Amino acid sequence: MQTEKQVIIDGLTFVPYLTREEIATQVKRVGKEIAKDYEGKAPIFLCVLTGAFVFASDLIRSTGINDAKITFIRYKSYEGTSSTGSVKQIIGLTDDIKGRDVIIIEDIVDTGLTACRMIEDLKKQNPASVKFATLLFKPESSQTGFVPDYIAFKIPPKFIIGYGLDLDGKARNIPDIYVIKED
Ligand code: 5GP
Repeated sequence: MQTEKQVIIDGLTFVPYLTREEIATQVKRVGKEIAKDYEGKAPIFLCVLTGAFVFASDLIRSTGINDAKITFIRYKSYEGTSSTGSVKQIIGLTDDIKGRDVIIIEDIVDTGLTACRMIEDLKKQNPASVKFATLLFKPESSQTGFVPDYIAFKIPPKFIIGYGLDLDGKARNIPDIYVIKED
């Protein structure tokens, strides 16, 4: 049964976890932090497709940094609801980031493998700096010890959908965040 309190996708049941209002409050907080840290600078925001596009859209507007540039990169490490363990680059970076301040925008940091691989790849192109902003961070899932510079929410190691995050390509357009229901 599909009720307002839960959504069912591919036979899996998800229950409400974070409302759009709670998300907006934390995204604005992170946006202000970034605006303060990058005052007088013109960073490049690097949005990690596909999941971060909703967060990136709200975050970059909330910073109010008018000189900022936005570009996109795509990695994949997930199939279904668990990590495949390997991290592959699918769409590369076309902009020149040499000497630039880069802010990666990611939807979620789970094991940290994608984040570490991405930072390693980007540093080869000699940017002035690389920082990492994430909507969600699962500290208990870390396999790398990586801690993002900007975090909207720290969450337990549970599978999340909505606000850009998907289940095999579905649910990205749900405005609130839902968590998988455990029996
Ligand atoms: P990591 O490399 O840190 O293990 O995983 C990063 C990627 O895994 C994220 O960009 C995201 O695509 C996917 N991922 C990790 N946890 C979740 C989750 O709870 N829900 C969804 N939809 N994707 C997740």
